[in-house]
Amino acid sequence: MNRFEPYLDILKTALRRLDHWREEYGSELPYQPENIDTIEYIVDKLRIRLEDNYPFHHPRYAGQMLKPPHPVSWLAYSLAMTINPNNHALDGGPPTSEMEKEVMNKMAAMVGFRDTYLGHLTSNGTIANLEALFVAREIHPGKTIAASANAHYTHRRMCRVLNADFLEIPVDANGMPDLAFVKTHGDEIGTLVVTMGTTGLGYIEPLADLLELASEHNFRIHADAAYGGFFKLIENHLPKQHHWQLLSECDSIVIDPHKHGLQPYGCGSVLYKDPAAGKYFKHDSPYTYFTSDDLHLGEISLECSRAGASAAAFWATLELFPLDESGLGSVLKKTRNAAERFADLIRSENGWKLYNKPDLDITGYFKMPDETSLSAISRLNKTIFDTGMNKNQSGFFLSLFQLPASRFIQKFPDIRADRDHVTLLRSVFMKEEHLDFVDELAKQLFSIKPESSS
Ligand SMILES: *Cc1c(COP(=O)(O)O)cnc(C)c1O
Repeated sequence: MNRFEPYLDILKTALRRLDHWREEYGSELPYQPENIDTIEYIVDKLRIRLEDNYPFHHPRYAGQMLKPPHPVSWLAYSLAMTINPNNHALDGGPPTSEMEKEVMNKMAAMVGFRDTYLGHLTSNGTIANLEALFVAREIHPGKTIAASANAHYTHRRMCRVLNADFLEIPVDANGMPDLAFVKTHGDEIGTLVVTMGTTGLGYIEPLADLLELASEHNFRIHADAAYGGFFKLIENHLPKQHHWQLLSECDSIVIDPHKHGLQPYGCGSVLYKDPAAGKYFKHDSPYTYFTSDDLHLGEISLECSRAGASAAAFWATLELFPLDESGLGSVLKKTRNAAERFADLIRSENGWKLYNKPDLDITGYFKMPDETSLSAISRLNKTIFDTGMNKNQSGFFLSLFQLPASRFIQKFPDIRADRDHVTLLRSVFMKEEHLDFVDELAKQLFSIKPESSS
């Protein structure tokens, strides 16, 4: 049996029932299946093209932040998509707009925005961050938006779009933002971006310290938790010094359901602590809103059309995996345990070095060559990366990570810095299945004998 067969039966039934609703409107245009053979041929051609992907579904794939969505999510998406509601306005899709509000209430409760908040889904984390930075610029026109050197690269880009000054905060050897630098520039800053789970190595930036500087210097805090946000659910199992409980003190927060929320792409989200942020979006388009005085999601968003199906998919997923420790949290615990287990294996293996202890479920590591220089390290680890990929179905799929030499040397001062950058290996263990596979992955890695790289 195909792994998706039971789900397809559910979809078939649901589609048939939904068709009854469609037919209630009469059958003036009877549905005639057309071109079935051609469609079958095209879909099979697509299937063949799709097999050129890396095996994102398999724990052998421990590279980038990629994994297939949960079946409940694509079932819900597929069903809703046959109607194709548009969540830009209530009239574009009343039920999926309601679902969007329901899931946002759950997200708000998760981050600890208790009484009031404003929030909605977006197409992705970049747009969600753009909105938050747009609000930041509107609140403090003329002031700077600051983010650490480890922040997502799109913050700088979006500041250019917004014509806002961007200030890069240097980071130390442990990847943490330089607090003295923030203090020095405190009065120029309007909003500071704190990344809760950097895209590179999953670092949690020092929220407590940054909040303190924020109140000292009167700047706002935007939490980019696009990757890490859902880890709030298992805060009791994460290092205390990460202060997840302070997330509710942030002025705005971005979390991507299409990263750790089991969703297909096209699902980010943004939340504002103060609903007054909505006033920067308000407009009255003459053609969009017709029937309701109720809140229109399009009124508090930079985007117009958005898939109602995304809201339906996330809503259905949260019915199955509630936003608590035993719901979605149970998935995150496994990914986190997988990363910790893998880090332990690297640490205790001769000739291998762990670059960072995982704050979440991402870790950087490398094999140390005989010749201890940055170029030798980069060559050897690139070879290991290639070896895994070249073995195809029996191999492993990691990612490469580039670090400036200066930062690497702070941690490993005995290495000769013969170039500007060093390339390490990096793994994102974001699938539950990783937990039972990391031992095998480590075994395969450790048994590689790449040809001498020096
Ligand atoms: C992934 C990510 C983004 C960008 O989000 P997209 O959904 O890819 O647009 C921004 N910030 C962080 C920390 C991320 O991990």
